[in-house]
Amino acid sequence: MNPNGPFSNSYGFDMLVLSVIYAVFLCLIFHSKKRINSLELKIFGYLIDINMISSIFELFCGLSIAFLGKDSIIAIIICRIYLGLLLSVNYVFLIFIIAISLNNELSFLFKKYFKVISFVTLFFMIFAFILPMVVVNDQTGMYSTGPATFVLLLYGVIADFILMPLFIVYGRRKYNVPFIKYISPLLVIIMSLLAQILTNVDHHYTLFSVLETFCLMVLFFTIQNPDVKAIDELEIAKNEAEKGNRAQEDFLASVSKEIRQPLNTIVGFSEDIKKRRDEGNAIIYENADYILSSSQKLLEMVDNFIDVSDMQANTLKLNEDVYNFNEAIMEVIKDDGEKIGDKNIEFLFNTSTDLPGKLIGDKKRVMSIVHNLLSNAIKYTNKGKIELSVRSTIEDDKCILVIRVSDTGKGIGEKQIEKIFTMFERSSNDKNSTISGAGLGLAITKNLVELMGGKISVQSEVDNGSIFIVQIPQTIPDN
Ligand code: ADP
Repeated sequence: MNPNGPFSNSYGFDMLVLSVIYAVFLCLIFHSKKRINSLELKIFGYLIDINMISSIFELFCGLSIAFLGKDSIIAIIICRIYLGLLLSVNYVFLIFIIAISLNNELSFLFKKYFKVISFVTLFFMIFAFILPMVVVNDQTGMYSTGPATFVLLLYGVIADFILMPLFIVYGRRKYNVPFIKYISPLLVIIMSLLAQILTNVDHHYTLFSVLETFCLMVLFFTIQNPDVKAIDELEIAKNEAEKGNRAQEDFLASVSKEIRQPLNTIVGFSEDIKKRRDEGNAIIYENADYILSSSQKLLEMVDNFIDVSDMQANTLKLNEDVYNFNEAIMEVIKDDGEKIGDKNIEFLFNTSTDLPGKLIGDKKRVMSIVHNLLSNAIKYTNKGKIELSVRSTIEDDKCILVIRVSDTGKGIGEKQIEKIFTMFERSSNDKNSTISGAGLGLAITKNLVELMGGKISVQSEVDNGSIFIVQIPQTIPDN
């Protein structure tokens, strides 16, 4: 008696039954567990589901051929569905690899690849359903052949041996995806290669679902286990919290330093003025200048703290009134221009002639935006050119101010540029340099611009300079 029962022409019937049991078991465990909401894990869930269905269909396929005959309509329909399911497993697995490679984010790029690959898969699926398929069940084994099977094999080769390796290389290069994440997927590729070779050398083997289920088990018990993922997530949250704490500590340290230095100046020069009571006025005035600028610096810093706390409490409000933009910006240029000092910097200011004389808006806040950008340009540029230009576009009673500040300074690196609008973020070079700052200016600026319904953007190149552009809508008064 053949131990394979109805599968007298194939080996591994018992393995197939076992793989169905395992696949169902895996499905039950996976779906009964609480898990974090990640794209990768969601797709892995689909992969487990579809693998279970395809294992059951593989079993039905063998049973229907063995009991009803290879030419029976029911057996042929079940075999066709099984072919379609095999293709779907391959498809979901490819999407799974893409999700891992694109940093597990439902990004625009992921959606784009998802759409293209789904569209192409649909074509393959249609061909797998309409092209002729021959089911063989004789001494050579139990298997299917013909154009429809060829389409399935072709899809498998393209997905597993061309696209998956390409995405793996892409993920490693572009997003630095750790290699460990790919070990199990690579195992699947190797296993499916093995299954392809074995089934083609000896058609008695029915191994696809068995190997697939095995690989999914390996994946489940290694990196895709929801428990392991939850621990990973906790680890990430812990690191983030520690990073936040460190940022606050850094911030406190730099703020204390920042406040201490101007305070020292104020105390030092005030004492000096007291001592020179009998000398002429010139020195007293000069000292008073230092005191004034230090006090202003302190005041600005304290204002920034107040803004930050208002921003965090969502209570930052705008005070709108009629103001003369040109006059106001000239004052900012005068005050900030002095900070260029003896640096070899050419300063240019352009303004378009069609700028309305009067505007309604929060003058103080608009000017603090200009001041933040301009003072940064001066702070981070040692030589060359700084250009401030203002244009406007008028739409009904709205005037969109387009303020552009460009410099030829040290520029901002690609990695740092993503962080400059985040509070307390300064580049590590700046933290260690003598350039003062608490890393709040741009975060406040962005917040203010957005509160006014505007936009801010930046382009920068290390050692070549930066360009900041803000667009701020203001209202034009009736008369
Ligand atoms: P800070 O008080 O440190 O200047 P900001 O929020 O104004 O804080 O800026 C954040 C960081 O962005 C700065 O520490 C600096 O690294 C970078 N940055 C801002 N503006 C410029 C610029 N014009 N050129 C080069 N780097 C800049």
